[in-house]
Amino acid sequence: MDINSVISLVRSNIRRLTPYSTARDEYKGKLGVFLDANENPFSNGYNRYPDPRQLSLKSLLAEIKGIASDKIFIGNGSDEAIDLCIRIFCEPRIDNIVTIRPTYGMYSVSAAINDVEVREVPLGRDFSLSADAMMAACDNNTKLMFICSPNNPTGNSMPVEQLRWLLEYFNGVVVVDEAYVDFSSQPSMLTLLDEYSNLIVLHTMSKAYGLAALRLGLAFAHPSIIELFSNVKYPYNINLAGMERAAELLERNVADEIALIKEERSRVKQQLSQMECVEKVYPSDANFLLVKVADAKAMYDALIQEQIIVRDRSHVPGCEGCLRITIGTPQENDRLLEIMKQKQ
Ligand SMILES: *Cc1c(COP(=O)(O)O)cnc(C)c1O
Repeated sequence: MDINSVISLVRSNIRRLTPYSTARDEYKGKLGVFLDANENPFSNGYNRYPDPRQLSLKSLLAEIKGIASDKIFIGNGSDEAIDLCIRIFCEPRIDNIVTIRPTYGMYSVSAAINDVEVREVPLGRDFSLSADAMMAACDNNTKLMFICSPNNPTGNSMPVEQLRWLLEYFNGVVVVDEAYVDFSSQPSMLTLLDEYSNLIVLHTMSKAYGLAALRLGLAFAHPSIIELFSNVKYPYNINLAGMERAAELLERNVADEIALIKEERSRVKQQLSQMECVEKVYPSDANFLLVKVADAKAMYDALIQEQIIVRDRSHVPGCEGCLRITIGTPQENDRLLEIMKQKQ
């Protein structure tokens, strides 16, 4: 799809929107006295409104991700980016989105909030994606596909060839949520942005980068799509304290942490696989393991008794009997393994 066809999918009210503009947006020259925004003039570090375009953090992220700044949107978590995708492309009560099942819950919640229909296509027994089934679920009002890869809670990555095929044949936008890509053996779809103008890739600072509390989610797309995101978002969606802390904390090297988490993932997987109470540990490209146990409720309660909380996914269709266990520090993982061993 060329970018003009993608833009033609945008809701007409959004295409026509005149975005909110600040006085500082409108004047580009050099300034020393700020009497335009009704701020308190006495400096405390935070008395001025932050940059609504987040240029400084974007240029840092551009360097880290190897992507031009004008292809980056920064949101208040990926959740803001997910919501904006739906608000920009989907006319409430008319358009629909297609996603997989099981997957991350926010696509459906955001769609429901916006009164947009969700069509869920079940993954195979081994959590494989059927690109044909995804296409079969679409009609002329399908604007978006949400595909999480590596998928939460199943942990597997979807093959790039299948995603490429959907990008070619689907007459809409494919949103690939790569929240866990830093733990994956499969490369990011980011390198395909120039090839497909109907691709939106989501990343987050909440997982591998260790900044969940700062609430920074990223969308990468064609500059014209990013411009729509910027027009629709709240002008000051990212606060200055968060941007400053992010810039400081992005200096540190997370590669060692990621390497250790991946090592621990294989150690925990190997140990769990030997336990009698464990029926299956699914392959994972993420920082968690989906584990099928004999009695999920009993195991969950036993762990809670020891003040360990995991995610009970046993009632999610396709994940019957499963717990989703995040990889912690080596000590935390030892503690988990010890309790689970006692329990069997
Ligand atoms: C955790 C997670 C996110 C991150 O959400 P934030 O709002 O950025 O914290 C996004 N997508 C998936 C699939 C996740 O599991």
